Amino acid sequence: MTQNATQAQNDSAATVKALPASFYSDFLSNLAKERKPSPIRTLYPLEKTPGLVSLLAGKPNAKTFPFTSVSVNARSPTDADKETALTIKGDELSAALQYGDTAGLKGLVDWITGLQEFSHGRKRGEGWRVSIGSGSQDLIFKAVLALLNDGDSVLVESPVYAGVIPMFSSLHCEQVEVETDADGIRSSSLRSILEQWPAGKPKPKVLYTVPYGCNPTGMTATLERRKEVLKLAREHNFLILEDDPYYYLYYGTAHRPPSYFHLELEEPEVGRVLRFDSLSKILSAGIRIGFATGPEVLLNAIDAYTATSSLQTSSLTQMIVFKLLESWGYEDFKTHTLQVSQFYKEKRDVFERAMKQHLTGLAEWTPPEAGMFYWFKLLLDSSSASGADDSEAVIRTKAVEKGVLALPGTVFLPNGRKTAYVRASFSLADEEDVQKAVKRLRETVLEARGD
Ligand code: PMP
Repeated sequence: MTQNATQAQNDSAATVKALPASFYSDFLSNLAKERKPSPIRTLYPLEKTPGLVSLLAGKPNAKTFPFTSVSVNARSPTDADKETALTIKGDELSAALQYGDTAGLKGLVDWITGLQEFSHGRKRGEGWRVSIGSGSQDLIFKAVLALLNDGDSVLVESPVYAGVIPMFSSLHCEQVEVETDADGIRSSSLRSILEQWPAGKPKPKVLYTVPYGCNPTGMTATLERRKEVLKLAREHNFLILEDDPYYYLYYGTAHRPPSYFHLELEEPEVGRVLRFDSLSKILSAGIRIGFATGPEVLLNAIDAYTATSSLQTSSLTQMIVFKLLESWGYEDFKTHTLQVSQFYKEKRDVFERAMKQHLTGLAEWTPPEAGMFYWFKLLLDSSSASGADDSEAVIRTKAVEKGVLALPGTVFLPNGRKTAYVRASFSLADEEDVQKAVKRLRETVLEARGD
């Protein structure tokens, strides 16, 4: 935590000023503004009124459900030999098997709100809240729909997570690529894009970024870069979509930079950051739980999409996650995430050793400090070190023939440019397979160079 942010946090009761709800009407898409809240779901909270008889929703009667209890066992973060049995029964089972609130199961929403206080130094009741989604992907897509109109311009770090490109392209958005390097978004690139923005053309309303262990580049944005980006957001009036599924997978040696959601406490007003977290990399990807955190108005707009599409995220998965997190508490959660990040650090070290051993002089890279990706440039032409087209072809064909599958960097460029970079994920392969794979990459490059 930076000294200023700590100060801001300590003083927050007096100094945190949230942007007013009316501010967001310039940011919400036309469809989001037209979307009416669900007439049934908005009445759900009234069902909890003591003494009230509800004839409201078409909730099936749980007496007809065959489940009598749900049991899962989980490893303890503090004692690897200990298993905690989590049993869902009684009222909790009824809630887990029934329709629930659009924003998420109350217990889980409360726990996650506390987590955001614990991890990001924010206090509840200051204009932000959380909503649960079926993975963060689900919430990012809904946020994009809630914010962008057809044909809008959007700022994306480049290269960008391939999973958001179709969201923007399906809305015919102009994806304005902001340069990045090993320190994150190059604020000079962002500044010049904004300062040279054509007069009369509507300015971009949002910037999308993955600030920790970026997918695909592995970069983690530095504190300075984050501060500059936040300042530009204020000066040029855009929102930051902080997609941070690798936040808890930071294993760098430097002091951890704060999230944008935390850092905006240093701004005169808070409310420009819409943050997305995921439990996929730390609890389970298949359980499909992510959460969005940010200004109430934007979360309401996201919920309106959920109420239309899936009604809500699975109550059962939310209950399983809630029971686990509740049994842990925030300190054990932290212990667990530190263990997970240590696991990936060791994998990173194994990969780094293999890269140095086999690809020195044949590729260029910066080792990641978070997450699970290596981003490296193949030096296919020993004289010019260029060859973006060649790199893609080599990775797609020759490397596969040799028995190694990696992703050509081109898929992370939204406007069809080519790159000589390649993304390799080191999350799964063991040391023997890493050695095999990187050696095969070496043979592929040497063959392509004709060495
Ligand atoms: N954002 C990024 C940058 C990702 O890498 C991923 C997972 N590949 C997601 C979002 C989606 O994660 P989730 O499983 O939470 O939907």
